[in-house]
Amino acid sequence: MLVETDVEVINKLKSVFGYDRFRGEQEEIINNVLSGKDTFVIMPTGAGKSLCYQLPAISLPGVAIVISPLIALMKNQVDQLNAFGVNAQFLNSTLTKAEINRVKKETLNGEIKLLYVAPESLTKEDNILFLKKAAISFVAIDEAHCISEWGHDFRPEYRKIHSIIESINNNIPIIALTATATPKVQLDIQKNLQMDDAVLFKSSFNRENLFYEVRPKGDTKKKLIKFIKARKGQSGIIYCLSRKKVEEIAELLRVNDVKALPYHAGLEPAVRMGNQDAFLNEDADVIVATIAFGMGIDKPDVRFVVHYDTPKSLEGYYQETGRAGRDGNEGHCLMFYSMNDIIKLEKFNKDKTVTERENARQLLNEMSSYAESSVCRRKQLLFYFGENLADDCGFCDNCKNKKETFEAQAHIKLALEAVKQTQARFSINHLGTILCGIENEYSLSYKHTSLPVYGKGDYESLSFWNSIFRQSLLIGLLSKDIDNYSIVSISEKGEAFLKNPTLISFSKDHNFDKEEVAEE
Ligand code: ADP
Ligand code: ZN
Repeated sequence: MLVETDVEVINKLKSVFGYDRFRGEQEEIINNVLSGKDTFVIMPTGAGKSLCYQLPAISLPGVAIVISPLIALMKNQVDQLNAFGVNAQFLNSTLTKAEINRVKKETLNGEIKLLYVAPESLTKEDNILFLKKAAISFVAIDEAHCISEWGHDFRPEYRKIHSIIESINNNIPIIALTATATPKVQLDIQKNLQMDDAVLFKSSFNRENLFYEVRPKGDTKKKLIKFIKARKGQSGIIYCLSRKKVEEIAELLRVNDVKALPYHAGLEPAVRMGNQDAFLNEDADVIVATIAFGMGIDKPDVRFVVHYDTPKSLEGYYQETGRAGRDGNEGHCLMFYSMNDIIKLEKFNKDKTVTERENARQLLNEMSSYAESSVCRRKQLLFYFGENLADDCGFCDNCKNKKETFEAQAHIKLALEAVKQTQARFSINHLGTILCGIENEYSLSYKHTSLPVYGKGDYESLSFWNSIFRQSLLIGLLSKDIDNYSIVSISEKGEAFLKNPTLISFSKDHNFDKEEVAEE
């Protein structure tokens, strides 16, 4: 259905925000919010999500409540809106009692169009009482993936949002927005917010101007310096896992004549903000940072994002690389990978609950499979976010340097047989152990050791079978269970293959561990 956009709204797009036209699906989204319906927006970073609630907020009577996970992010947006002449304020722990009272009074007087609230503040009893008195137009939930334990940035307070909104007034429309949602996370968000009837706007995650590359660690510092020297004067972000590493790499770059500055939560706020500003104002070319850096940062000409250490999830990785090339020009995303990093990351989780640990391990598994695979990077990344790219992209390391391929028909047949004989109820990893004939607690208790396929694939390694299963998923012979992470079943296409097997070539995984040399 085509809805004609109100001229007032179009006028505000230009007069308040200074934009000539809408981008992507912004117009449809905004009309949906304006009509009072629930809205779910999944768009990559930099696509322009903020406008989707900011413009309706200033067009509707009342105040829009914006829930946002980071105080810095809130402040950025509020400052920007104030500069546009919009009365936006925030309510969070940085305000004094007097300031809080002023903001509340102004809200109740109807002077404020957007009120940004931290999820922690939302749960406070007196704030709930206050919000009950306010004339709320709608609630926007930014970074909505924080709701899901399956996402990369889970915030327990986010799970309380829905019941709080209901207790305030159960007729308030909701718009939830996120830049990272695998199909599973998406479902989780919708369930938690009870937004079954919400209209979903999901735009493609493909960022065609970004080049993806993974290199094994080993002589990493040398590789890094060479990479950056070849990009002299260009703007870039280097992510490291620890504050210590951030300092070390920033120093290393400085002694190599690169204008680099560190950024992490351990720095004095003034220093940290100063370094961020220096990067934004081009006084520094490179910012070396922990993942604390970047959310809400809008620098259009970032030409490269380097992950000096292997990141802990593909979601986080994709969000961070998304900060490159916002102006549409080329951005180079280089990740250094090592199994040691994965093991290190796994150790961080030892104090977590069993489920949290299992979830974190799954995310790490996805990460190492991605890094070690020689299939088109873009194909893998998009598949992870529920999209299928028909052809190889031609613009990633794996496309540029094709690995050797092999005829996989017989292996695929065996892999699919294993799925069949276990009634499609098990994970790729377990299926691999069955094929390899590895006896363990599971295979014994499920009596999988007596299956016909048991041990039939012992001529290859567990990681080989992992790769066969993953490539079968990518070409649609298997499907993933949306509720049960990593469990696979045979698709229609897979059944057809079993009836009438065709020749299929798969590519060999990288063998990074062999290439890796000891560091320091
Ligand atoms: P996201 O929240 O999706 O990461 P933002 O809302 O921060 O993205 O927007 C990214 C950039 O795009 C910002 O610089 C914003 O000013 C710009 N932008 C958003 N909508 C438009 C538009 N319709 N026309 C031009 N620029 C836009
Ligand atoms: Zn590719």
